[in-house]
Amino acid sequence: MSWAQDIAKLGRLDEQVPMSAHTTLAIGGPAHWYFRATGIHELAEALRIIPLDIAILPLGRGSNLLVPDHGFDGIVLDFGELSQITVADTTLTAEAGARMSKVAQQCATHGLAGLEFLATVPGDMGGGIAMNAGAFGQQLSDTLLSIQILHRHGEIETFQRDQLQMIYRHTSLPKKSLVVSSVFTLNIDKSEAIRERMRNMRKQRSSTQPLALPNCGSVFKNPEGDYAARLIEEAGLKGKKIGHATISSTHANFIVNEGGASCEDVLTLINMAQQAVQAKFDIRLEPEVRIMGGSA
Ligand SMILES: Cc1cc2nc3c(=O)[nH]c(=O)nc-3n(C[C@H](O)[C@H](O)[C@H](O)COP(=O)(O)OP(=O)(O)OC[C@H]3O[C@@H](n4cnc5c(N)ncnc54)[C@H](O)[C@@H]3O)c2cc1C
Repeated sequence: MSWAQDIAKLGRLDEQVPMSAHTTLAIGGPAHWYFRATGIHELAEALRIIPLDIAILPLGRGSNLLVPDHGFDGIVLDFGELSQITVADTTLTAEAGARMSKVAQQCATHGLAGLEFLATVPGDMGGGIAMNAGAFGQQLSDTLLSIQILHRHGEIETFQRDQLQMIYRHTSLPKKSLVVSSVFTLNIDKSEAIRERMRNMRKQRSSTQPLALPNCGSVFKNPEGDYAARLIEEAGLKGKKIGHATISSTHANFIVNEGGASCEDVLTLINMAQQAVQAKFDIRLEPEVRIMGGSA
């Protein structure tokens, strides 16, 4: 296939790559193509070459993604080569493939406050912006100045924060666009004070979340004024197991893969939780996890 040969010159192209190796839930069948561009300009060029009828999936660390067992008949775009983080005074710029934990480290090193929560959230900055990641009362939109995106046709455009609608765990990006970098303005503080806040956040996390088994973090968004975990627990589903997937008995808004769980196992648990919470509390739980190729 000639377009595939052409983009293979712009990075690394693999075929039939199991998505279970690229999601923190360790679930998902093969992606037809898996492409890792060597840089932003190579990625832009590849987008101009990939036919418009081929589905694209921008992928960070796959920490908020549920991929079907039959896989993805399109091209996954991996940002692993775009991982630079630069700091100038109180401005931090991160490419999409930079790990959020690495950004947290840089913040501590440079004495920049406002993104401490990134020390506790898995994933890359591109995925973080797409989800408007947040925790402990902070979210990316609070300190974001601008982002650079690549449109599906390969053009680069800068968006200022006020041009973007960013709400709880959601950013409205132009259709099929990719985040390639983001810029933040942060506050000056002592490195040790920042590190101490990060340590406390990590400690809180490890005592309340089932981090030893593959998972995707919170499965559902918290409904206004309540907690999805409380609702699921009170609906009697904590510990519920389908196949090899279980609603965690440590935190009911987590589904864990106990080894060999399928996407169907997880989807069944998601539907059960939604139905049970709807029946008991008349509240519709909205998934936070991005379910590829469907909605729950
Ligand atoms: C143990 C655990 C704890 C977690 N805790 C939190 C938490 O406290 N707060 C929180 O907000 N989240 C949390 N999460 C969820 C997850 O870490 C975040 O949603 C994170 O931002 C996802 O980043 P990612 O790189 O893994 O994105 P992915 O899962 O790879 O992708 C998520 C979505 O973003 C899209 N995307 C990825 N990269 C790009 C890009 N460059 N351009 C455009 N779209 C893109 C994908 O197509 C997909 O739709 C947790 C997850 C785990 C496993």
